[in-house]
Parts: sequence; structure tokens; C-alpha cells
Amino acid sequence: MIIQLQQDISDAQKSVIIEKVNKLGYQTSEVTTQFAHYLIAVGKAEFDLRRIGHLTGIKDIHRVSDPYKLVSKKWRVYDTDIDLGEGVHINRSELSIIAGPCSIESPEQIDQTIAHLKANNIRLMRGGVFKPRSSPYAFRGIGLEGLKIFSEKCRAAGIKVVTEVMQVSQVEEMHDYVDIFQVGTRNAQNFNLLDELGKIDKAVMLKRGFSGTIEELLQAAEYVFSNGNEKIILCERGIRTFETAYRNTLDLNAVPILKEKSHLPVIVDPSHGVGLRNYVEPMALAAVMSGADGIIMEVHQCPEKALSDGQQTLNYHEAKTSYERLRQTYALKKSFNGV
Ligand code: PEP
Ligand code: MN
Repeated sequence: MIIQLQQDISDAQKSVIIEKVNKLGYQTSEVTTQFAHYLIAVGKAEFDLRRIGHLTGIKDIHRVSDPYKLVSKKWRVYDTDIDLGEGVHINRSELSIIAGPCSIESPEQIDQTIAHLKANNIRLMRGGVFKPRSSPYAFRGIGLEGLKIFSEKCRAAGIKVVTEVMQVSQVEEMHDYVDIFQVGTRNAQNFNLLDELGKIDKAVMLKRGFSGTIEELLQAAEYVFSNGNEKIILCERGIRTFETAYRNTLDLNAVPILKEKSHLPVIVDPSHGVGLRNYVEPMALAAVMSGADGIIMEVHQCPEKALSDGQQTLNYHEAKTSYERLRQTYALKKSFNGV
């Protein structure tokens, strides 16, 4: 059950509510986010909501039986809008395109990417500076100093920075340079990291764990929300299956399901989802038709020379065509009106 409290509720009024709810057999947790104040009540007893609904200080009450609650659409029926400032939003009414290299490699590469993005009207740049790599001998990113340059150049160009955070201690040091903190698939259930990201006022993009269920992704989002941060984006990036013909199985089934279950925007990553350059565009278009609110994809000035994930990365020319087709596809999908 979610009890939304009035912003100006007094401590005494809150205590009365908590006592009454506890007496009904429910445990309560208080959640204060950048936007509102809630009590989450967990329990099983059946009771008439009117027994507490009249108490002073309550704005709204909803029964949500799912294990995730605040991210559930059963409670918040309108869609969440993530406002990144300077007119950049991620929501369910426009297509967001996030593009850039797998890894940030050099200041020159940042300049080239920004020029490419600007030429294609894209306001969100991806690029890892802390890279999770299966091999410890692979390129692991240029780190915080690289992020500072990435951020400075993007800020000057009006472009938002999307980059992966790998551990709790990085949240604070990266904070001022990031617009969207990406949580990678390998950290999908790093609950300490999710807790920490819940305490800041920056958007968080949660990638689905490669062996994670849809419900686990939503519970990861619940961690962030219940710690106080409502600015969450969900990302389907493929799961590991028995198939070996491609890198991951991009689970587009997840898109309409996530959108039905949650009010959060849903982004798809076809680059990691299929892992093979030639199939990135078709899967990106399919993702849009499945209802994705955005696409994150890897682009590089010369994918053959990329320091990571070149095999799934588009060059600028290929990417340009894909952006156009993505926009056309999104317009077509929208014309179906609610489908
Ligand atoms: C990435 O975006 O480069 C990345 C490592 O993603 P994932 O965590 O989905 O593998
Ligand atoms: Mn990558």
C-alpha cells in the first residue's frame, strides 16, 4: 500500500497514521523523494481503506500488491517525465536517442561525437569512462579525468552526459559531471549502489541484468525510488540465453510489459542487445515498434578501431540513416494511437 502524505504534514499527524497502519498489521517505511513524501505499508490483512483514508495529512492511498510499489503503474497512472534541463526530457511522448561510443577514448573523439550528434539533432551522449570488462586485460576506460573533459565539452554544446557508474565510491566523485548515471547489467542487483543512487538528484538509467527478470528490474528501480530518487529510466539490453548466434537475446517482449507495469520511461539498447553491427538498426526499429521511448546506441568515428565493442558499433554514416529511420518509425508507431 502506498500512502502519499501531504507535504506540510506535521510529525504528530504522521505518528497517528503510522500507529493506525501498524495496528492493522502493516509495517511502514517512510520515503521522501525530491518530489513527494510517502509511507509504504507492507502487510497482508484485508481492511477497508476508509478506516485510514480520513486521517489528516493523507493526500492519497493506493493498494499495490506487487513487490515493487512506487514504480508501479497501479499507483501512478500518469507517465513519468525525466526533466534533464535545457529542454531535454526523457518520457513517453517523444523519442529519445542516446548515442556515442562504448568507451570515451580521447578529447578529439568527444569533439567528433558532439559534432555528429549536433548535426543529427541529438542531445544525449553516451560513453563509458569506467568500463566493466570481462577480461582484466581489456581497455577499462579513461576514468574520472576523462569524464571531466567529456562533461565540459558536452555542457558547452548543450548535450547531456550518460555514463556508467560501477561502484558506490564513484557516485560522489562523478556526481557533478553526469546527467544520467547508467547502472550496467553486471550491477543490476548491486543493492548498495542502487541505494546510493537513490540519495542523489540525478537521473539513473537501470540496465536489466543479463540474467534478470522483468520483476527484478522493477525491484531494482524500487530501490532507487524508495531511497528518494524518482528520476529513473528502465533499459532493456538483452539477456543471456542458450543462443550463441549473437551476443545477447534482446527481449523486446519486456518493453510493452514494462510499460504496462510501470510509469517509468523504457529505453532499449540494441547494440548490446544483439551485439552485431548489421542487426543493430533492425532491432532498434523493432524496439520502437514494441513501444520503446528511446534508443541508446553505440556509434564511433571508426568502429573498426574502437577500444571496446567495435563489432556492434555503427559509424556516423550508418548511424545517421538509423536516426532518420528511428524517427520515421516512431511517428508511424504514434499514428497507431495508443497501440
Ligand atoms: C555499455 O553500455 O557499454 C555496457 C557495458 O552496457 P551493459 O551493462 O548493458 O553491458
Ligand atoms: Mn559497450
